[in-house]
Amino acid sequence: MEYVDKCPECGSRRIGVGELSGYAAMTAKEKMFASSAIIADVCSDCGLIIRMRVKKPEKFAPKEW
Ligand SMILES: [Zn+2]
Repeated sequence: MEYVDKCPECGSRRIGVGELSGYAAMTAKEKMFASSAIIADVCSDCGLIIRMRVKKPEKFAPKEW
């Protein structure tokens, strides 16, 4: 698990990691089969989602790459 300093909302350091997949997965625009689960860092005290990122960012590279 990646280190996250603390929640900017409540100051808690109890940060957990969640994963969105299935219907919540991010799909690349104009790439029918390119999709990725989303990883989220969540404050376990107030519920704030501190940040989100896709699991496979290379799937979202623009066409000219
Ligand atoms: Zn919090």
